[in-house]
Amino acid sequence: CGIVGYIGSKIAAPILINGLKKLEYRGYDSAGVAIFEDNDIKVVKSKGRLSILEEKVNEEKPQGTIGIGHTRWATHGEPNYLNSHPHVSNSGKIAVVHNGIFENYMELKEFLQTKGYQFFSETDTEVFANLIDYHYKGDIVEAVIKSINEVEGSYALGVICRDCDSKFVAARKDSPLVVGLGEGENYIASDIPAILEYTRNVYILEDKEVAVLTSDSVKVYDNHGTERKKEVFKVNWDV
Ligand code: GLU
Repeated sequence: CGIVGYIGSKIAAPILINGLKKLEYRGYDSAGVAIFEDNDIKVVKSKGRLSILEEKVNEEKPQGTIGIGHTRWATHGEPNYLNSHPHVSNSGKIAVVHNGIFENYMELKEFLQTKGYQFFSETDTEVFANLIDYHYKGDIVEAVIKSINEVEGSYALGVICRDCDSKFVAARKDSPLVVGLGEGENYIASDIPAILEYTRNVYILEDKEVAVLTSDSVKVYDNHGTERKKEVFKVNWDV
C-alpha cells in the first residue's frame, strides 16, 4: 500500500518510518523495513500498527544508510508476520517491497519451485523476490529488468540487494512511484507526502521505468535497459 526508500549518509530507518507515517491515512495491516547493514540485509517487520514496528526498530537500532519500507494492504495472503513485506529471497540476497498485484505469480511460483526455490508466505511478492534472485548473476539492474518483463499485473517496487553496498533499484507499472532528489541522498515514495519534508524535486516514474539510485545519482531506464531522460518535477504544494 505504501512504499518509502532512502539512500544517503543518514541512518535510514527513522526516515523510512517517518515517511510511512505520512502514508498511514491510506490504511494498512502490517509494516516493515529492510536495511542494508554490514554487507547484509536486516529486516524488521510486524503485523499491526506502525507504532509496533517503530518499537521493534528502536530495540534493534539498524544503523544502515540504505533502506526500503512498506505498509501492506493484503491482497494475497492474510495479514500476518510472514506475509508482511519486505520479502527476502531464499539466498538472502534480495529484499523487495511491493504495492500492487502480480497476476501470474502462481505460474512463476511453480516454475521457481522446479528450480528448487521454497516459499514461506502466501504472497505474490515473495515469488517476485525469488524471481529476481533467479535472474541475478551479479547485475541487479539486469535481474530486475528481466523479472519485470516476465510478470503481468501492477507494481510499485523497491529492491535492495546484499551485494549492492551503494545502490538500490525501483520500478513501477500501474501503481504510483516517485523518486525524490536530494543532495547526497535520494528517495523513493509511492506518494509525495512521504518525502515532502526532505525534497521538492522529484522524478515521476512512468510505466515500466526502472530507477537506479545511489547517494549522488539517479538513473532511469526503460524495460529494455535504455536510459531515459527525465524532467525534474517541482512540487509546489504542501500537505
Ligand atoms: N500483493 C501484495 C501483497 O498482498 C502487495 C499488497 C500491497 O499493495 O500492499 O502482499
